[in-house]
Amino acid sequence: MAQSFDLVVIGGGPGGYEAAIRAAQLGMKVACIEKRLHKGKPALGGTCLNVGCIPSKALLDSTHRFHDAVHGLSAHGITVGEVAIDVKAMQARKDTVVGNLTGGIAQLFKGNGVTWLQGSGKLLAGRKVEFTPLEGAVETIDAQHVILATGSVPVNIPVAALVEDLIVDSTGALEFQSVPKRLGVIGAGVIGLELGSVWSRLGAEVVVLEAVDAFLPACDKAVAKEAMKILGKQGLDIRLGARVTGTEAKGKSVTVKFADKDGEHSEVFDKLIVAVGRRPFTDGVFSTDSGITLDERRFVHVDNQCRTSVPGVYAIGDLVRGPMLAHKAMEEGMMVAELIGGHHAQVNYDTIIGVIYTHPEIAWVGKTEEQAKSEGIDIKTGQFAFAVNGRALASNDAQGFVKFVADAATDRLLGMHVIGPGAGDIVHQGMISLEFGASVEDLQLMTFAHPTLSEVVHEAALSVDGRAIHAVQRKKK
Ligand code: FAD
Ligand code: AMP
Repeated sequence: MAQSFDLVVIGGGPGGYEAAIRAAQLGMKVACIEKRLHKGKPALGGTCLNVGCIPSKALLDSTHRFHDAVHGLSAHGITVGEVAIDVKAMQARKDTVVGNLTGGIAQLFKGNGVTWLQGSGKLLAGRKVEFTPLEGAVETIDAQHVILATGSVPVNIPVAALVEDLIVDSTGALEFQSVPKRLGVIGAGVIGLELGSVWSRLGAEVVVLEAVDAFLPACDKAVAKEAMKILGKQGLDIRLGARVTGTEAKGKSVTVKFADKDGEHSEVFDKLIVAVGRRPFTDGVFSTDSGITLDERRFVHVDNQCRTSVPGVYAIGDLVRGPMLAHKAMEEGMMVAELIGGHHAQVNYDTIIGVIYTHPEIAWVGKTEEQAKSEGIDIKTGQFAFAVNGRALASNDAQGFVKFVADAATDRLLGMHVIGPGAGDIVHQGMISLEFGASVEDLQLMTFAHPTLSEVVHEAALSVDGRAIHAVQRKKK
């Protein structure tokens, strides 16, 4: 007899595994189908844990420590001998972090009674799921409900076809076993900047080629401008308006042709990272008669609670519209598990945080100044720098600022934009404020601990009305 489950989740990334665990907590009989082999072993955790968020942050942390040891410690009066990097050891540490976390998900599945089916799932008509195990015979499973959570894969562009260990995507860029002398990066998006930073900190000469003229167009303009300045000073050679038109791999180097407003150019690199975006992974995920439809951008079409066009079938995470972020996938997974369990649930897409884990970090939530203006909202803004914050100065880590965008008529907070130390954590204060519908005055009237980085949040809120204390501002009222 066919196996049957209350819920079958296809894909065990952050979206899929959270949905599976929450549904099991709610008493459902749940299976999660995941086909991934990581370094030869079946692995849960998806892109994020295996080849995305976690390994990239492990390398960003190691390389930040290296860079700080070489360039930052002397300011504290600390002298160290020659500082060296053992790339293989750094990679081994990253692999351990990944292994611990993915293994942890397998334990959570066991503890919650979620069945992990190792292999590929495909949605068929009538809410049946075809399961092709990594080993063994294909079977058809009956499912009351199905969640498609197959995530995304890197976009490949014909002008930069991958060549093993020479022209690589983000996955390959996490595995370099030595520091390239000259590294090219195509795409100045989040992934390109993070991976470019990793290898630049270890001494690679990094050139980032970006087709579009604008830098970080999703960010508030003031933040993007500051980021361009800071990252440039760190040595990232970011060339905007530079469209890659061809690549040629020869021996151990790659020649990249690109065009900008001055004409055609070429550069030679030891390695090239292609970081031009990701596409939803729909290959073989559902049969043509399953009833699933795609939207105009080839994401699985869903409503605002992740229902597909087939009753009882949901799709979440990178597979569907919205930012391709792990926490967005997770929240959608939780929401859908709750909905299937008969509870009310929704995701507030207006308060999804974006973070770029460069140093300093860049983080934002809500509307940018440009966005709010384009929507015809009469706004007021306030900005305050880390450069005069006691804690930031004490740590010798005082670049960047916090900026608020607020509705001039109602005082309601619309957006928070941070570039600076700990931005990815600090920005959560903005997210919580937006969720609670806070006004700027609410933040002005709260007591922030001294000396903390969060005092910059307080001062930025005060500065919206020209009343920051640690900067000379002409009082507005
Ligand atoms: P995924 O994590 O992609 O998981 C989908 C899983 O489904 C995969 O494991 C795949 O093997 C499996 N699958 C696919 N088809 C089938 C099938 N037919 N049967 C069975 N299994 C299948 N996001 C952040 O929020 N913060 C970050 O710092 C961050 N850093 C990143 C860094 C890099 C280098 C990259 C590449 C991505 C990063 N992301 C980050 C994005 C993040 O990884 C994704 O948004 C997130 O993983 C999406 O989760 P998901 O569950 O939708 O899909
Ligand atoms: P993201 O989608 O944020 O990961 O960013 C990917 C970036 O790659 C975008 O900013 C694109 O403009 C850029 N890009 C795409 N194709 C090319 C190309 N051929 N040359 C240079 N940049 C590109």
